[in-house]
Amino acid sequence: MNTPPGHDMACRQCLTPLNILNGTYCHPSHLPDPGHQPQPTPVSAMEIVNRRCDFCGDPFPLWQLDTGDLTVIAGTADTQLLQNLGSSWAACHPCWTDIDTTSPAQLTHKAIRGLGITADPHTVAHLSALHHTLIEHRRPGRTLITTTPWPPAAIGAADLPKIRTRLAAFLAGTDRLPAPMDAHRQQIQASLARAHLYWIDPAFTELAQHAATSLPPDAITAELAPCDDGLLAWPHPVTARHITAISWTRQPSGHTVTVYRTIGNGLPDPHIQHLRQQIGWLAPAATHHLTQSSTAVHPAVAVAAATWLLITQQAAETVEAPPAKAARNTARRTGKPAPPVRIVRIKPATPAGTIHTGDAGKRLYRNRFWVTGHWRNQPYGPGRTQRRLVYISPFLRGPHDAPITATTTVRALTTRPPAATANPGKDENP
Ligand SMILES: [Zn+2]
Ligand SMILES: [Zn+2]
Repeated sequence: MNTPPGHDMACRQCLTPLNILNGTYCHPSHLPDPGHQPQPTPVSAMEIVNRRCDFCGDPFPLWQLDTGDLTVIAGTADTQLLQNLGSSWAACHPCWTDIDTTSPAQLTHKAIRGLGITADPHTVAHLSALHHTLIEHRRPGRTLITTTPWPPAAIGAADLPKIRTRLAAFLAGTDRLPAPMDAHRQQIQASLARAHLYWIDPAFTELAQHAATSLPPDAITAELAPCDDGLLAWPHPVTARHITAISWTRQPSGHTVTVYRTIGNGLPDPHIQHLRQQIGWLAPAATHHLTQSSTAVHPAVAVAAATWLLITQQAAETVEAPPAKAARNTARRTGKPAPPVRIVRIKPATPAGTIHTGDAGKRLYRNRFWVTGHWRNQPYGPGRTQRRLVYISPFLRGPHDAPITATTTVRALTTRPPAATANPGKDENP
């Protein structure tokens, strides 16, 4: 009945962990009819898994603990659910706290409430025995569950130094990460100490996301990075997989690139405080090796590459953010200056040489709006023998201090031409 450790499978379509029943993968009992056949995929190959806390059913499990194979005497249909989960267990932060402080009664109480189990004496005794055994036989240490789809949290520019410090401390600690990310943790931690910090403003993030969709895959190489070590955060997730930050470090054979999700958003106090102290804000979701000729890259790496390119071609301006009050206080106390955060934002003026003015200059725009752009392989250097990718677009039209119109932003982010009736009078190619 049990899945061998390290061979967990989840359904590719609904991202739910699968159980094995009579040698066949099946959806768990809380999903009796999801409307499709299970599509088993190894969990190790998935970035998001809709796993639940094995103790209370909470949808945001944080830690995996291992017990070795526990043989549980089959009981009611409810305890069958727990029995099928094998030797590794997923715990939300509150349940982990109960396990760590050896509070099996609390754990049982939460399970009965969370899983909606009928609290008859037989079931309570059975669950209680299971929780006692589990606490007694758990193995040392814990592994961060990096596939939990936490609700995204907004990252501010001034928070980046603190976020970097916590992430580095977590990587230096003893809590495990899933392999193969665990193999890179020292390298990433050392790199964070040297990293330049970048925060991308919302408008520039949208432009980079849009530009990434048309970036030729073979153009995404390690050479685009503006520095050897960096940590870059977007104000909102840039992929469907909730990726909101990326770090990179130059290695002899290319760059090690790590993508991150925000973690813990929505947890009540004091659990959120504990989580911020123990882990911080970012959980690594995947590590990639980016060489000079990478062909298949993570969608977030493509957005990062577009961001790097737009920075290099100076479509963006980079300004230093004033450090947060806490960072200033730390700097005063320790005598070390607060690290600068580079905010990357849309340049106030459209870059010369890449503008198609048409009759736009005659129009009076009260808002700025996106128009579609494209990458061009532009010659440069002695005799114009070399080529570099340049994003060609009057990508933002309108006064530089005007607000950016959401509706036209949406239109420009589609790959199809806008419908003839949509927004008449705001043509992108007048
Ligand atoms: Zn499914
Ligand atoms: Zn729980």
